[in-house]
Amino acid sequence: MFDFTDSQLELQQRVRKFVNENIFPNLELIDKGEYQEELFKEWCKTGLVTLVAPKAVGGIELDTKSCAIVMEELGYGDVGVATGFGANNLGSYPLLISGTLEQQKQHFGPILEGKFGAFALTEPGAGSDAGAVATTAERKGDEYILNGTKCFITQGGYAIDMQSSMVVFASTDRTMGSKGLSAFLVKGGTPGIRVGKIEDKMGIRGSQTVELVIEDLHVSASSLLGEEGDGMKIAMKTLDSGRLMVAAQGVGCGQRALDLAVDYVKKQVEGVKPLAKQQAITFKIAEMEASVEAARQLVYRGAFLKDNKQPYSHHSAITKLFATEMAMNVANSAMEIMGSYGYTKESQIEKVWRDARILSIYEGTNQVQRLVISGGLLR
Ligand SMILES: Cc1cc2nc3c(=O)[nH]c(=O)nc-3n(C[C@H](O)[C@H](O)[C@H](O)COP(=O)(O)OP(=O)(O)OC[C@H]3O[C@@H](n4cnc5c(N)ncnc54)[C@H](O)[C@@H]3O)c2cc1C
Repeated sequence: MFDFTDSQLELQQRVRKFVNENIFPNLELIDKGEYQEELFKEWCKTGLVTLVAPKAVGGIELDTKSCAIVMEELGYGDVGVATGFGANNLGSYPLLISGTLEQQKQHFGPILEGKFGAFALTEPGAGSDAGAVATTAERKGDEYILNGTKCFITQGGYAIDMQSSMVVFASTDRTMGSKGLSAFLVKGGTPGIRVGKIEDKMGIRGSQTVELVIEDLHVSASSLLGEEGDGMKIAMKTLDSGRLMVAAQGVGCGQRALDLAVDYVKKQVEGVKPLAKQQAITFKIAEMEASVEAARQLVYRGAFLKDNKQPYSHHSAITKLFATEMAMNVANSAMEIMGSYGYTKESQIEKVWRDARILSIYEGTNQVQRLVISGGLLR
C-alpha cells in the first residue's frame, strides 16, 4: 500500500540531494539562524517552493504521500528548515479548503515566484483554544478592518518583507466564540501589519518565528475565505493536514538520530567491550528503529487515507502524537548512547535533540492530540 512510485522515488532522491548538498554542509549557519534566505533560494531551484499549489494556478499539486516524502527528507536534514519551508504549505491549505480560483491566484502568485507564505492563527491568549482569538475584523463598506496581535508565526516576517501572501484569522463576531472566527487573505507589506518580537528559540533555528502586530489593517471584503464564521472549520482542516506533515518531519528527525547513534556505536571500539557488543546498547538501538518504522507506517497510512478521500482527522492526531514523541525519545536515546560526546555540539545529536523538542508543541500540542483521540473514541 505504501510503495513509492518511480516519480516519488525520484522526488525522494531530489530532496536527499538538496539535504546533502545544501543543508548538511551549512548546519552550523542554519543553527545560528543566518542562512535562511540563501537556502530558500536554492530550494526554489528544486521546483518545490510550495508542494500544494494547484495545477490551475501553475503549481505542482503534489499528493499527500509525496508531500510526506519531502517533509520526511527535510526533517532528516533539519527540522527547522522543514518547518520554514513547510510554512508555504501550512499557509496555503486554507486556500485549498475555501479559496476561490481568484483568491488562489492572488495567494499562490507571490509564493510561486519564490516567496514565503505564513499561517497566522495563534495569539498570546489563544493557542490551544483557537476559539479565543481576540483579533477582530470589523466590516466597513467593502472592507474589513483588522486589529490584534498574533504570536509565534513561522516565516511571518519574511512574508511581510517579501510582500508575499498569508492567511490571518480574526473574529468577525466575538459574541459567537469559535463560530465567529473568520479567515482572511492578507498581502505582506500592506500598511497596518508589522513584525513585533522575533523569537530567540532553543531549536529549529533554521525557521523564523515572530509576533505580528495588526493595527487598523484594511483588507478588501473579497479577502474573506469562504463565509464569515468559517474560520474555525478552515483552521482545523488545515491543521489535520499540517499534523501529518509535522509527523513526517518527526520520522525524518528520528531516523537522523538513529543513524547518528548507529554510526557512533559502530565506530566506538575502544575499552573493555565495544558498544556494539553491549546488549543494553544494541537492544536500545533495535527499539529505536522499531519505533521510527512504526511512525513512518502511520504517516504513510495517513497520507493514503487523505489521498483516497477517506476520513483521516482522527488518524492524523494519532500520527502526530506517536511520531513526534518517537522523535523526541529516539533523539534522547541517541544522546544517551553517545554519552558525554552526545552533549557536545560536535556530536550533532545535540542539535537534533533541541530541534525535536518543538514537534510535540506546535500545530496542536500533544495534549490536544490526546483530547482529539480520546474524544473520538469516547463520543
Ligand atoms: C516554533 C513555533 C512555530 C509556530 N508556528 C506557528 C504558525 O506558523 N502559526 C500559528 O498560528 N501558530 C504557530 N505556533 C504556535 C503553536 O501552534 C502554539 O504555541 C501551540 O498551539 C500551543 O499554544 P500555546 O503556546 O498558547 O499553549 P497553551 O494553549 O497555553 O497550552 C499550554 C499547555 O497547556 C496544555 N493545554 C492547553 N489546553 C489544554 C486542554 N484543553 N487540555 C489539556 N491540556 C491543555 C497544552 O498542551 C500545553 O502543554 C508556533 C509555535 C512555535 C513554538
